[in-house]
Amino acid sequence: MTLMTGNEYRESLRDGRNVWIDGERVEDVTAHPAFTGMIDAMARIYDMQFEDAFRDALTFEDGDVRRGRFYKLPETRDDLVMRRHMTHAVLTEVCPVMDRFGDETVSPLFVMYDRKDLLDQYDERYHRNVARWIDKLQQTNLFMTSGNTDMKGDRSRQPYQQQDPDHYLRVVEERADGIVVRGAKYETGASYAHVAFVKPTVGAWVVENTDYAVAFIVPMNAPGLRHICRSPLGLGVDPFDRPLTARFDEIDTLLVFDDVFIPWEDVVFSRKPDLARLIRTDLTRWAAQGFLLRSFAKADTLVGTALLAAEQTRTITIPQVKQRIAELMVFRETLNSFILAAEAAAQQTDTGLWMPNQAIQNAGRVYASTNYNQAVHNLRDIIGGSPVVVPSRKSFANEEIRGDIEKYFRVGDVSAEDRIRVVNLAVELTSSAFAGRAQAYQIFAESPIFAQSMALYESYDRQGSVKRAARLANL
Ligand SMILES: Cc1cc2nc3c(=O)[nH]c(=O)nc-3n(C[C@H](O)[C@H](O)[C@H](O)COP(=O)(O)OP(=O)(O)OC[C@H]3O[C@@H](n4cnc5c(N)ncnc54)[C@H](O)[C@@H]3O)c2cc1C
Repeated sequence: MTLMTGNEYRESLRDGRNVWIDGERVEDVTAHPAFTGMIDAMARIYDMQFEDAFRDALTFEDGDVRRGRFYKLPETRDDLVMRRHMTHAVLTEVCPVMDRFGDETVSPLFVMYDRKDLLDQYDERYHRNVARWIDKLQQTNLFMTSGNTDMKGDRSRQPYQQQDPDHYLRVVEERADGIVVRGAKYETGASYAHVAFVKPTVGAWVVENTDYAVAFIVPMNAPGLRHICRSPLGLGVDPFDRPLTARFDEIDTLLVFDDVFIPWEDVVFSRKPDLARLIRTDLTRWAAQGFLLRSFAKADTLVGTALLAAEQTRTITIPQVKQRIAELMVFRETLNSFILAAEAAAQQTDTGLWMPNQAIQNAGRVYASTNYNQAVHNLRDIIGGSPVVVPSRKSFANEEIRGDIEKYFRVGDVSAEDRIRVVNLAVELTSSAFAGRAQAYQIFAESPIFAQSMALYESYDRQGSVKRAARLANL
């Protein structure tokens, strides 16, 4: 097996998957305009692996073959550092506001790999399956997405208490050759991915929820699997008007499992509440590094766009505008500090894998999720009201009115076209549908903020702080 190229990635998606968008069945996702932007972006990442500039960041040597670094277990401190370079390389080269491309969605498998002791207490196949999948992913670089969130139904009830027992994904049958699952999961990027790692959602993993405590890897063309995609944002959109929507609309999907068969080789665990609890608690050990790197890249884009816009209109000369931009810089640099500090204070798991310092990293993701919308608001403030009057490329191309646009959108030496391009980028970060989705992603996709805060609470050295306070209180 060898690493896939961009063209091989495209070809591999023509596999009969059952994809629906706007009420229509999509025969070939690679030919459908709702997906081509992101498929191009993914193909670019596949090709980067073979280029001198990116080879070491995206792949690693194993004897005389190269394997995908997205899937390399962090066995050394250097592996952690290289994971940062890997994600940073993709965000810088392809797009800084792209979220799902497979580097972080594999990492919950590392969590399971790390707990062989616990998995073996239930079934020795589980750890073998995880190890075999990590090996296979490294060799082939399959694009793996992540399905955690169920539709849930009534949030005040446990999975087993729901009126419709399918509202949380569950095992409906265990057979000699595998399990059969039914239910539905959210999943960004599923329609142009190869496989998904499906696992339990946030919840209380009591014994009554046993049927719902299941994790497995499933190919995106499995019989019985239906992809019901949200409406695309980028169809027919001109890249001049919407530079991000037109190319980087990461389609979110409801994956419906209509009695899907999963062979035992692909089962990570079945009907094990203790393992569901484990994976939920430690799910983001490595994934949060990817989330913070994405948040940092977005923060950098906000700073850059604010500077471009303010320099064009010369509001950059106003101290209060500089102060607003400095607030964005604080956001960027604080994220940078969380990333570097968590890496510098890295911890080892009981089996010796290296992970970013968990308390620092968890504090970082609460900070990133909580403050993103304020940062977006700062850019909105800096750009002013221009977004609501900016004309489209079609207006710009019309000879009758083009002169007006050139006259009134020009700012000194800055042409109307350059001014409009910057305003359009700001729109994509603050007020388009693309921006709205990105804001929702930022507060929810890394699990809701209350769950992130709970993870911080659990990973924090509470005893240390208590001891110091108690000493001061002469207890
Ligand atoms: C753009 C986008 C992409 C996504 N991609 C993926 C994906 O690829 N894979 C995936 O698995 N999921 C994905 N999700 C889903 C995401 O993980 C969930 O939206 C998130 O976990 C919240 O769940 P929910 O939407 O059911 O909201 P709800 O659980 O209904 O929460 C709604 C509100 O109630 C609050 N709330 C709920 N329960 C509690 C509680 N017990 N204590 C305190 N407050 C509570 C929440 O904080 C929130 O404010 C994505 C979401 C978005 C927006």
